[in-house]
Amino acid sequence: MGLLDHNDMAKLGCGECNGCSACCRGMGQSILLDPYDMFQMQMALNMDFSSLMQEKIELCVEDGLILPVVRMQPDTDACGFLDQKERCRIHTHRPGLCRLFPLGRKYDENGMHYFLLEDACQIPNRTKVKIRKWLAVPMLSSYEAFLTVWHDLRRDIQEQIRERCQEAFTQKVNVSFLEIFYQKRYDETGDFYGQFEDRRNIFAAIWQQMCS
Ligand code: SF4
Ligand code: SF4
Repeated sequence: MGLLDHNDMAKLGCGECNGCSACCRGMGQSILLDPYDMFQMQMALNMDFSSLMQEKIELCVEDGLILPVVRMQPDTDACGFLDQKERCRIHTHRPGLCRLFPLGRKYDENGMHYFLLEDACQIPNRTKVKIRKWLAVPMLSSYEAFLTVWHDLRRDIQEQIRERCQEAFTQKVNVSFLEIFYQKRYDETGDFYGQFEDRRNIFAAIWQQMCS
């Protein structure tokens, strides 16, 4: 697996999908949402977490940690944001994993890298595109730094949940985690990274208490 960074080129260009919506269908609970996605969705739709939960997103459990995911609609098995013309209604604000496809992310001691999921997108003759351009995320270095912190935080929580194997602890962690990082509405007019850092500090204080 060749590891890439955001200044590398990769075979990603698919002619703006050209009517294909394969990766917006039948995805099960694989499109996990992080706090930046939640912030973006609020901005696109002016909906809070509980309104989104009624129709567009749902919760899944990953190694004991409860996380929101994009919901596939029961009648079509398609994402609820896909419109009649097979286009994403929230394209500019779409989740990070949708933005990333057909790339994956890998984390190691040197931070975050990208890799190409070779056969994930079926469009033939894909053109080479710089990863930075493909992602089209403003302040990409801040975004990648956030993703690394978020990945490490989730991994640490999941490790503790696994090691302790106590239902009451797992429940307490999940209630705080969901409330702090997802349920409490973000100020869409403000800086996301500052808000995330504030919430991480709040969670860290609670986490320390829970683990002591
Ligand atoms: S599979 Fe490829 S072409 Fe089809 S919607 Fe996804 S990215 Fe676009
Ligand atoms: S949010 Fe948009 S890009 Fe992502 S799966 Fe749904 S329709 Fe597709």
